[in-house]
Amino acid sequence: MSSELQLIHSEILECTKCDLHKSRTKAVPGEGPLDARIMFVGEGPGQNEDEQGRPFVGAAGKFLTELLESIGLKRSDVFITNIVKCRPPNRILCALGTPAINTLIGDEYSASRFHGKPLTKGEVTMLPMYHPAAALYDASLKETLLHDFQVLKQLLEKEETHSPSTPKSAERSGAKQTLEKWL
Ligand code: SF4
Repeated sequence: MSSELQLIHSEILECTKCDLHKSRTKAVPGEGPLDARIMFVGEGPGQNEDEQGRPFVGAAGKFLTELLESIGLKRSDVFITNIVKCRPPNRILCALGTPAINTLIGDEYSASRFHGKPLTKGEVTMLPMYHPAAALYDASLKETLLHDFQVLKQLLEKEETHSPSTPKSAERSGAKQTLEKWL
């Protein structure tokens, strides 16, 4: 690595210019040859990248490598980086009511079966819930919503502890797998 690039890497690894440095495990500078003819720029590090300090090392990275190979290139031929060098914290997305749940998670999900059960979809934790309006027509759903907001509170507390500590089972699961611990 050239001394110029080494200097930029060192600055990134120690950077504290924004709050993202607080939740990162490792900052993720780009990698690849300085004279690469192609540069790929992603959005930001995911969990695998955050843990390893290297860009595109998860499933998407493997697929990118396959795409490169499909045109006769190697990963080491290109420079790969992200706009943001530190992993943005996980986001929690609450889907209120079955129409929102179907749109955001999938048609096979419903509020009645999946409310209060977090799912992971990429870097986002999805929490299906009943729509608050439903409790206006069915008073029993008020208790259900209060319970599901306790689940939300616990998710927030987990995130605050340290976002990379999200349970491994959650990280592995796709949108189609619920977190057993919450069931
Ligand atoms: S995201 Fe960029 S600016 Fe923010 S701490 Fe990381 S390297 Fe520094």
